[in-house]
Amino acid sequence: MRTMLKGIAASDGVVCGQAYRLVEPDLNVERRTITNLDTELNRFHQALEAAVSDIETIKTRATKNLGADSAQVFSAHIAMLQDPELIAAVEANIKEKRVNAETAVAKVTADYEAKLQGLTDNPYMQERITDLHDVTKRLTGHLLGVTLPDLALIDHPVIVVTHDLIPSDTVSVNPQYILGFITDMGGRTSHSSILARNLNLPAVVGTQDATERIPAGETVILNGTRGNVIVQPTVDELATARREMKVRVANQRRLESLRHHETISKDGVGVMLAANIGTASDLPAVLENGAEGIGLMRTEFLYMDADQLPTEDEQFDVYRQVVQSMAPRPVVIRTLDIGGDKPLPYLKTKHEDNPFMGERAIRQSLAHQNIFRSQLRALLRASAFGQLRIMFPMIATLDEFRQAKAIYDDERSKLTTAQVPMGKIKVGMMVEVPAAALLADRFAQEVDFMSVGTNDLIGYTMAADRTNQDVAYLYQPYHPAILRLVDRIIHAGHAAGIPVAMCGEMAGDPIAVPLLLGMGLDEFSMSAGAVLKTRELIGQLNAHDLQSLVETALNSASTSQEVITMVQAAVPGVLQK
Ligand code: PEP
Ligand code: MG
Repeated sequence: MRTMLKGIAASDGVVCGQAYRLVEPDLNVERRTITNLDTELNRFHQALEAAVSDIETIKTRATKNLGADSAQVFSAHIAMLQDPELIAAVEANIKEKRVNAETAVAKVTADYEAKLQGLTDNPYMQERITDLHDVTKRLTGHLLGVTLPDLALIDHPVIVVTHDLIPSDTVSVNPQYILGFITDMGGRTSHSSILARNLNLPAVVGTQDATERIPAGETVILNGTRGNVIVQPTVDELATARREMKVRVANQRRLESLRHHETISKDGVGVMLAANIGTASDLPAVLENGAEGIGLMRTEFLYMDADQLPTEDEQFDVYRQVVQSMAPRPVVIRTLDIGGDKPLPYLKTKHEDNPFMGERAIRQSLAHQNIFRSQLRALLRASAFGQLRIMFPMIATLDEFRQAKAIYDDERSKLTTAQVPMGKIKVGMMVEVPAAALLADRFAQEVDFMSVGTNDLIGYTMAADRTNQDVAYLYQPYHPAILRLVDRIIHAGHAAGIPVAMCGEMAGDPIAVPLLLGMGLDEFSMSAGAVLKTRELIGQLNAHDLQSLVETALNSASTSQEVITMVQAAVPGVLQK
């Protein structure tokens, strides 16, 4: 039956295709007594082979997208499945207990796990527990005849339906086969949406129950621009969707002609258009979309895509690759911003009732300086290869910035003594905590640049969790309170003679862009897929005329809706996200 699901428009575009449910199947095992021993041993070996072959495929994809180092975990998984001791133990259990292979696998792996749990003073062995869970699931899945879903195993075009999207999911995405994403969880600025936009794939998030309501293989139309999903669409709806897909392709072609242009308003005001990235694998999209630099590299994905802290050398390799590929264009790399909706599972942190207000980002870095220092050293070394800028996230007080800067200076002078080559680096901060926005004039005296992180600034100012769809109505980028804060930051930066950038999602939002241009924002940084659209829009705007729009929005508007109406009257045709 035709149904329409409503969600949040997370990444533009319309696609139709078959649903692929990235949902873990029921892997409960039923104990059975067997009659034919050979058949059971055969089943076990066939499942083993199939599981190894799955992991080989995932490994190949991960190596291609992330490099051999990051794919090493999959070699460990294969070795575990091929461990003669484990194989012999399962065979013995089948033979002695006369049980089905899945029961034997469950018993033997549970015994292994208990042994590993006992080795409390061996962190390496403790980490193998996660690996053991992963391989057991895959093996059991094959024995039960259910394939564990995995993006790397998809070999035809599909729309992925999942509870939530995590960075490691997207590592193995083959863009050729993934048409778009539908998730139960998330808001427009949650990290799952940002990942979809980085991949330039349409997405609807926060549907609450898409995974329950969309059957595997069902035809769906995903409208990432309007934020809805039609399950079992009518013939007419399919025809309309296909037309919209064609229009999108045509628009894309038109925009491509702007790839090598500068970003200049109709009246000649030039701004810098940069892209946000999560990992080095986002670089091709950045270059294809003609970004003039990287305004934000979220380094936490490098930490989240691994099962242990990346070493200084591993980080150096990635930062160098990014800085070098973009040179001579500038690259802003942000130090680790974990916590909030980005926990690091392998770092045993204390439970926090309110992680968005807890030991997040720079707070975590200052509290665990060994991690911070190793990241700074990797960044300092990478600076020799291009134009690097370093930025600290979630700065709330001047004291935090000074402490972070002092640690940076300390690491820099140690490397100077060791004669390690380094480039000039500008050191700036993200303004995403309201206290820092209100005190931006003081910060501007000490930092080299500021970048407004509206994703968090909006959340903290409106006291609305950016990932909670129940309060999404309060998450209002154009609220006059937010605009006043942003305007204040830009003026504070300019009064002190430093540039002000924005790397929150608002920088690529068509309603916000005219306001930000009118306020004099120097740099707009956004998902690569939004760069060309924004360049086209800025080229149609008259920056000087927009100053009066800004005045009215700041001084006369009382609600977000009033601001939207004002912008749409001043710039006919701009659409709200
Ligand atoms: C922001 O808060 O606007 C930002 C860019 O950082 P993140 O989305 O990674 O929190
Ligand atoms: Mg932030």
